[in-house]
Amino acid sequence: MRRHEVVVVGAGLAGQRAALAAVEAGRDVAVVSKLHPLRSHSGAAQGGINAAVGAEDSVDTHIYDTVKGSDYLGDQDAIEFFCREAGPTVVEMEHFGTIFSRSPDGSLARRPFGGAGFPRTIYAADRTGLALLQAIWERLGTESSRFTLYQEWDLTRVVVRDGAVQGIVAFDRATGAFEGIAAPSVVLATGPSGRIYARTTNAHSCTGDGVAAAYEAGALLKDMEFVQFHPTALPDSGILITEGARGEGGILKNSLGERFMARYAPHVLDLASRDVVSRAIATEVAEGRGFPGGFAHLELMHLGREKIESRLQEICDFSRHFAGIDPVTEPIPVYPAQHYMMGGIGTNATGATSVRGLFAAGEAACVSIHGANRLGGNSLLETLVFGKQAGIAAAEHAARSSTRPEIAAADVDASQGPIRAMMARKDGEDPAALRAEMQATMERYVGIYRTEADLLEGIRRVRALRQRYENVRIVDRSSVYNLNLTDALEVGHMLELAEVIVVGAYARTESRGAHSRTDYPKRDDAHWMKHTLARRSDRGPELSYSPVAYTRWEPKERVY
Ligand SMILES: Cc1cc2nc3c(=O)[nH]c(=O)nc-3n(C[C@H](O)[C@H](O)[C@H](O)COP(=O)(O)OP(=O)(O)OC[C@H]3O[C@@H](n4cnc5c(N)ncnc54)[C@H](O)[C@@H]3O)c2cc1C
Repeated sequence: MRRHEVVVVGAGLAGQRAALAAVEAGRDVAVVSKLHPLRSHSGAAQGGINAAVGAEDSVDTHIYDTVKGSDYLGDQDAIEFFCREAGPTVVEMEHFGTIFSRSPDGSLARRPFGGAGFPRTIYAADRTGLALLQAIWERLGTESSRFTLYQEWDLTRVVVRDGAVQGIVAFDRATGAFEGIAAPSVVLATGPSGRIYARTTNAHSCTGDGVAAAYEAGALLKDMEFVQFHPTALPDSGILITEGARGEGGILKNSLGERFMARYAPHVLDLASRDVVSRAIATEVAEGRGFPGGFAHLELMHLGREKIESRLQEICDFSRHFAGIDPVTEPIPVYPAQHYMMGGIGTNATGATSVRGLFAAGEAACVSIHGANRLGGNSLLETLVFGKQAGIAAAEHAARSSTRPEIAAADVDASQGPIRAMMARKDGEDPAALRAEMQATMERYVGIYRTEADLLEGIRRVRALRQRYENVRIVDRSSVYNLNLTDALEVGHMLELAEVIVVGAYARTESRGAHSRTDYPKRDDAHWMKHTLARRSDRGPELSYSPVAYTRWEPKERVY
């Protein structure tokens, strides 16, 4: 058995920032990642990172925009802390070597983003995530003698005994060996779970493993029914066309040539929050004003070649290679795709979960600062602000801990046993087929617009798939880079989370942020101004609710 003081699972921005904080606190740190750190989905982030810097903008406006964007479900104390940390965080990343784009006067360039009262999204062309990830990786690299990297290792289980974390069980993809890694503190920073949906902007690796492991270990999941659809993805592939494209002046049109956002958000048009713009596109297409094939157009042509090719280089490449159009001369076809999970492992602002010694940060976590709808540019910031907090808290917990955590052989076997059974089956379910059915079910029954009848059908179908998963079969029995095995495990995690999403969505009889019930079209503050908490039980998720934290902003109707 291996042993460390702090184990961070995930090496995206949140995991690396947590690891850096724990290393700087002098702890013996391990980072476990199923991907090479620079392959993490953080590296796909395009548009930018928010911070109110400069004299014209203010932290208070950033706080207000985030509270309003969350449709008043975000915890205001956490949001205040988050927005105050934004400026110092971006400056720190700049000092770590991030090559941000510049204004002509040399200051950090900023672009407008949806739902923001001021252009406060700082960027590195349309490759902001990669620029940040490379900078933090270099920084962490200088500390490499003080941390251990388990690269291409997959977390399968968080071990909890007597209410306290003992460590994790993971396997090495290169050898297939399962091992326990004991630690008093574990930070889960395993990122998104968008692959639960058929059409998503998320990478193939975004399968919610850490969220499922926390849930199985008894931690509470929070607000899982809030699923963000990004308005502008390429219709077939789901490849993202950054909000920065509208920030730079891009406009949406329907097949009648109308700038339809005027009907949905008369004041800010194309730069309304994502839930509003996604519903607008879906409505235009559903009511027959889309283009054949079912999409809207995003026009950039009027911006001119120079601006498009310098500020939106990747968008040019994606449009040319994956949609066969040139955005300099033609509109880009777009339709909403799953993009972000507002929900996740419930934490407070220090990253602590409901289980002693277990911390979470980044997209896998729910603090909650995004509430019912996340603003673009706030997620990269979240990974860094709360990744650091989780790293600090995990380090402190490990330093204080007086018990010696243990991973028993039985703990490792509890992960390995079911896999042996999956491999021994002569006949059984194909994980890829189960995944495709799950994705289609979630897309159809738990999508942008939701109704009671659809959600009930969604619950029925997801539960039937979970039952079939009991009989899943791994055909490939090799131990070296067995992708059939990782696929089977990932589908199991996603099915578990799909059930929590649909059960939470069925229970919430109101419309708020990204959760839009056509049978309950209004926000219902009297009954639903509360977070959903889900605990795992043999009968499925058990729901309870917790209050939203307020500081200064009274709930108002949200108009853009
Ligand atoms: C296409 C795209 C564009 C985006 N653009 C923006 C933007 O411009 N601005 C913004 O604010 N936000 C943006 N977002 C959202 C933001 O990028 C993500 O929410 C954020 O980067 C997630 O960071 P993370 O560290 O939580 O997870 P990730 O960066 O996804 O890292 C997850 C890590 O967990 C590891 N992992 C996962 N499962 C396991 C397992 N079982 N075992 C071991 N390791 C595991 C992975 O190897 C990886 O290292 C975008 C998202 C996408 C998909």
